[in-house]
Amino acid sequence: MATTHKTRMLIIGSGPAGLSAAIYGARAGLEPIVVQGLQPGGQLTITTDVENYPGFRDVIQGPWLMQEMQAQAEHVGTRMMWDTITSVDLTGDTFKAIGDGGDIYEGDTLVISTGAQAKWLGVPGEQELSGKGVSACATCDGFFYRGKKVVVIGGGNTAVEEALYLTNHSDDVTLIHRRDSLRCEKILEDRLMANPKISVLWNKRVERFVGGENSELRALALIDTQTSEESEIETDGAFVAIGHAPATELFKDKLAMDDSGYLLVKAGTPKTDVPGVFAAGDVCDHTYRQAVTAAGMGCMAALDAERYLAEKEFSGVTATVQG
Ligand code: FAD
Ligand code: NAP
Repeated sequence: MATTHKTRMLIIGSGPAGLSAAIYGARAGLEPIVVQGLQPGGQLTITTDVENYPGFRDVIQGPWLMQEMQAQAEHVGTRMMWDTITSVDLTGDTFKAIGDGGDIYEGDTLVISTGAQAKWLGVPGEQELSGKGVSACATCDGFFYRGKKVVVIGGGNTAVEEALYLTNHSDDVTLIHRRDSLRCEKILEDRLMANPKISVLWNKRVERFVGGENSELRALALIDTQTSEESEIETDGAFVAIGHAPATELFKDKLAMDDSGYLLVKAGTPKTDVPGVFAAGDVCDHTYRQAVTAAGMGCMAALDAERYLAEKEFSGVTATVQG
């Protein structure tokens, strides 16, 4: 039978943003509920080495970090729910979310931290070699390719920024794009073209990621989009940078979003256009997309949710006294 779960702070998503919001919310006595979704712990659970999350001198593992975050959130009083939200109602005095088994979650405040997923090419070898040479995050994994040969696939801002970033680690970066012109900003294109460490392969589509010995990436099989000529490029690492998709389908026509579907928040805050509803992490951030920035935004969302409730309660008391 469907159950109704009530909380002062409902959090959708259990990545670094959601769990950080939960830690702050629980410590403020808001008894948060976190609905975990299909990827409990979020994106870091599908990676291995994490070297840039502060507080750890040695390399840590993504799944371990997320287990620790969850344990910390539970330790201070968070309720974790194995459920996925399928619809939301943001119109009432409390915010309602329905789980896929029919359970109802009601929050006096709502923190949305449903993250974003990298888009993948969907060609053979990509999934099998993910984490073994194929990545979608140069900031996260570029360091592992110091002095090696890498390629970036895509022609937008992300791809060009990733290619430029990778020159910090590699002297041999190739950008592979399916057309003969980039869609990135002009200033980025100028930087790319002026960088002697980067070359561009135009009009090439990736047909296949090819593994070598040890099941690590060895090469990419390419096809020319103009001539259909086949070729191969040897590489140690391939970064797919063809865009990200924020998980915001639930909030379409309910919250303001940009053209790419990222939730819009008031600059420098986690506040959406519905008072009491906050967004944190990759779901509203197409620029930084890091665990530490997501965690920071989760903290901000919880602090602002707490203030929102305090102000609401204070105005309720004032109205009663005046009435
Ligand atoms: P996510 O981690 O994306 O979490 C989203 C959560 O929302 C998930 O728990 C999901 O189940 C839940 N959810 C989605 N929809 C629903 C729904 N309908 N109902 C309920 N729950 C839902 N960053 C670093 O700082 N360092 C690194 O080394 C690093 N390495 C990375 C390696 C890889 C392979 C990837 C993919 C990313 C990496 N990142 C790294 C980026 C980092 O993982 C993200 O920036 C961070 O996880 C974003 O946190 P988030 O909480 O906003 O969202
Ligand atoms: P994007 O602008 O949508 O560009 C995606 C790129 O990937 C395009 O060049 C596209 O090719 C290519 N692509 C898409 N699907 C492909 C496929 N299946 N196979 C091969 N190539 C494919 O995505 P983005 O670069 O991630 O940027 C997303 C948004 O964030 C944009 O609004 C961007 O301006 C913004 N952003 C801004 C900054 C910044 O301001 N510094 C940084 C990063 C991102 P085509 O060109 O042929 O379509």
